[in-house]
Amino acid sequence: MHKRLFIPGPVDVREDVLQKMATPQIGHRTKEASALQRSISDKMRKLMYTENEILLSTSSGSGLMEGAVRSCTRKRAAIFSVGAFGDRWYEMAKSNNVPADIFKSELGKPTTPEMVEEALSTGKYDLVTITHNETSTAIMNPVDEIAEVMRKYPDVIFCMDTVSSMGGTKIEVDKLGVDICITSTQKCLGLPAGLSICSISNKAIEAAKEVPHRGLYFDLLQLYEYIQKKDYQYPSTPSLAHMFALDYQLDNIMAEGLENRFNRHLEMAKYTRAWAEKHFEMLAEEKYASNTLTTIRNTKEISVSDLNKELGKRGYMISNGYGKLKDVTFRIAHMADTQMNDLKVLLETIEEILGL
Ligand SMILES: *Cc1c(COP(=O)(O)O)cnc(C)c1O
Repeated sequence: MHKRLFIPGPVDVREDVLQKMATPQIGHRTKEASALQRSISDKMRKLMYTENEILLSTSSGSGLMEGAVRSCTRKRAAIFSVGAFGDRWYEMAKSNNVPADIFKSELGKPTTPEMVEEALSTGKYDLVTITHNETSTAIMNPVDEIAEVMRKYPDVIFCMDTVSSMGGTKIEVDKLGVDICITSTQKCLGLPAGLSICSISNKAIEAAKEVPHRGLYFDLLQLYEYIQKKDYQYPSTPSLAHMFALDYQLDNIMAEGLENRFNRHLEMAKYTRAWAEKHFEMLAEEKYASNTLTTIRNTKEISVSDLNKELGKRGYMISNGYGKLKDVTFRIAHMADTQMNDLKVLLETIEEILGL
């Protein structure tokens, strides 16, 4: 039996979207391939509220995260971490020999604009990474306020991880001044994992030109220059299966309407938060609570794995806590094509299993 996924990626994929992955292959050096990849880039620009170039990478989101920090750090990177995915960005910098410092917030707390100001005022850094939506703690950082600080430092490259939020909440890349905004397919976009996407500003391109060792597969400058010359074709063979499905899914997203889609996510988030407050506690403060998933404190000390076994028998799956939060929290994702009704049935089923 298929279990309906309420885990924060991979998410359930609509049957019609899955079918698009079975589209017969085309040559990756054909006009059709150019048109397909150009079409995706145009639609992604709308979704991301940007006029910047879009890069598509056959990898999960981590690939472009590693590529960004490696390709564009000239001096030193300031990595702001509010959990597992910020920590990972720091590990990526370190293992690529990119000079970097990590600025961690207490678990469940955001990166504050003051923290960013304090770090940048030292003049040591020329690249900043921010996690927009941290999937371990389910907090959304105050990026509007952070962006205001970033504006004071126009030479610093602003990278943002929107892997678990792009497509589920409004993120206006150009308004925020984000130079490299990264996402991947298996979360709010509602596709299988395997493709990551980023927007990239001219400023980031110019920065990359000053970096001698950018790696190869995830060299953002090479990807950028290649698609300019080769009409949106990429240096290596891309997952065309993902391309067909993403192009189609972006049409579905536009047909739903971006505001409608963001509102649907918000309504589901509010419903889950209210449920969490009623039966357990939220990990995040309301002000920083994520719109795409909720991390709930396990105040009743339930066995999340037993709960998931029972849910599994009924055709559902939720997620335990991540890393250090494994047993003390659990997570419910409400993203991509999940509808309010699906969520209500899930929460009722949890109540019934736990006798709440
Ligand atoms: C899932 C996730 C990642 C990692 O993305 P992959 O596509 O699994 O490589 C990075 N950051 C955040 C916030 C995520 O939720």
